[in-house]
Amino acid sequence: MGTSRVQGMRWWACAIVALGTMLMSHCGRGEVATDVSSEQMTHAMEDTEDFSGQNAWNHCAALCELGPRPTGSPAYAAQLEYIARHLTAAGWRVERDTFSPLPGRHMTNLRACFGAKEGVRPVLVSCHIDTKGSGSKALLGADDGASGAATLLELARVLARTPDKAQQVELAFFDGEEALGERITEKDGLYGSRYDVARRGEEGLPACMINLDMVGGEGKVIAVPVMDTLPEMYELYRTAVRELGLPEERWTLHLGSYWDDHRPFVEAGVPTLNLIASFTGSRWWHTARDNMQRISAVSLAETGRVTLRILSLYQTVNDLNSPGLNSTLRNLESSPYPAVK
Ligand SMILES: [Zn+2]
Repeated sequence: MGTSRVQGMRWWACAIVALGTMLMSHCGRGEVATDVSSEQMTHAMEDTEDFSGQNAWNHCAALCELGPRPTGSPAYAAQLEYIARHLTAAGWRVERDTFSPLPGRHMTNLRACFGAKEGVRPVLVSCHIDTKGSGSKALLGADDGASGAATLLELARVLARTPDKAQQVELAFFDGEEALGERITEKDGLYGSRYDVARRGEEGLPACMINLDMVGGEGKVIAVPVMDTLPEMYELYRTAVRELGLPEERWTLHLGSYWDDHRPFVEAGVPTLNLIASFTGSRWWHTARDNMQRISAVSLAETGRVTLRILSLYQTVNDLNSPGLNSTLRNLESSPYPAVK
């Protein structure tokens, strides 16, 4: 079963290649800059019905004002406080999971629910909040770290306006996505998401997962990894992009897999969408240039609206109002990988 699923995914990936729908280019640089303090920006939050790119930008700037936020740092702890405070204010119940993936090293994920619905398997929307490097080599990670958290915080505010929808969503802010070594491998990096999958067990897995990573760069090109994505999830993504009238050349695919926080969930059989900007070969990724100057409120707003649209489409497809969400997607038995025991 597992093998045939993988083959199915590969066939589908090849079909995508044959269709020539793959478009790749790299992110541009933003122009946005401000000297407004985070305290002022917090007060300037808009109470809009729709996702506010400005609110998300404000969150991103406030997180960056804490400085680099590598796992285990005081700035990382301050970031947890900031996120928890805003989630709680929006009516979400916050939980922290502290774990030790390596001897002597403690990490903390933060999760939030809006009063879970009985018998409903939630959709997980996630990001990572640790930033790359340590000590004098710690990086600010405006896009690679803060942009995902900023988008989730604004999503939390918007979702809270419709409690019935919010109750079907869980938010997760993962620690330890970045490798302690140079690159993420099977043993280094993704510590928070790996822990979260293990903590949940099979019964606690979400119905599906949308992971946001590097989603705030001006002119970004989102490149969803084909090999990690079920056709049904891809359809939700394409439909959302089309319905919002966004340029398809900036909401595209990566012909392969990515090591990112969706991967432990893929390996556990969870349908995922990894919304991640094309970053390989860029001049900013894992450098000091990943700062607020490249973050755009428009870009964050597009990510937020696509995510909300996907959630809405998914909830429609799966009639999440009925008790017992064993979603259509899970019942399709089309997960690319067998469940992890
Ligand atoms: Zn990174």
